[in-house]
Amino acid sequence: MTTALDLCLLGVLFAQQTVPSAGNPIFSSVLPSTGFFGWYGTPNTTESITEHSPTAEHSPTKKHELTFCDTGTLQSPIDINVATCKTKDFPPVTFLDDILFNSEIQYENNCETVKITLIDKTLKPKVQGGALAPGSTYIVDNIHFHWGTKNTEGCEHTIAGKKFPMEAHMVLYKNTSKDFEDALHKKEVAVLGFMFILQAHPNEALHAMVANVTEILQPHTTFKTSGKSLVFLKDYIGSGFYTYTGSLTTHGCAEGVLWTIFKKDIPIGKTQLIIFHDVIGEDAEELQNWRAIKPYNNREVYQSTF
Ligand SMILES: [Zn+2]
Repeated sequence: MTTALDLCLLGVLFAQQTVPSAGNPIFSSVLPSTGFFGWYGTPNTTESITEHSPTAEHSPTKKHELTFCDTGTLQSPIDINVATCKTKDFPPVTFLDDILFNSEIQYENNCETVKITLIDKTLKPKVQGGALAPGSTYIVDNIHFHWGTKNTEGCEHTIAGKKFPMEAHMVLYKNTSKDFEDALHKKEVAVLGFMFILQAHPNEALHAMVANVTEILQPHTTFKTSGKSLVFLKDYIGSGFYTYTGSLTTHGCAEGVLWTIFKKDIPIGKTQLIIFHDVIGEDAEELQNWRAIKPYNNREVYQSTF
């Protein structure tokens, strides 16, 4: 069960910050002036300020301090090349408790994503297994989502070239770190990725989650509710997965993040996905927040035996 991967690949993930505008679905706007680090805390300020400026990436004339987003060689997301994945005997990922589901949580539209956090910051839901460091537990920091403006795109990772309409990220940090920011510097962050697949009819298991998102369609709004709306995740976290080491997909794109992408897709109805498409970002822009895939650069991607 012990793997070299466990020992050296911890990471964080985050999705890329994009504030799109009509006409350029991926990179088109400037960074919001506030709340930029809202998903994951406030890591290295110098590194992050310039982060992944969507405008800078596509405007060579604009001065832009380089970050890992520009220069990194182990970036995320990637296309999971299923044909070349090596298989390893990982255990399944598991929740060690029901804290996440039995506590009060907050849904937030921070103009970057829909971000879900526990209201009581002293509560620490724990996860273990998979490619996470053996014998260690990881704390859930937040859950957030990536989506697009069309049903045919919105995920960050792709699987053998296949795109999905949405991807959820559960951001974890190793319990030997004080908090997420501490873990970011120690490279003790990991991200669990769940892919959503479109279906014609609504998925009843997502009703509560989607209903909560309808409460935060307006920019910079929050809604407090029960963690029961996330219980559906229990049906997917134990599924088979792909794993590799990459980066945050925004916020400086720091590398050394351990990624786990589950193989079991979460069905989402068309009318449910529309609710995410209706989330409004800064300046009344339609929000979308996915980063395009990055090169493998000789990295190994492993998959579980199940
Ligand atoms: Zn993300």
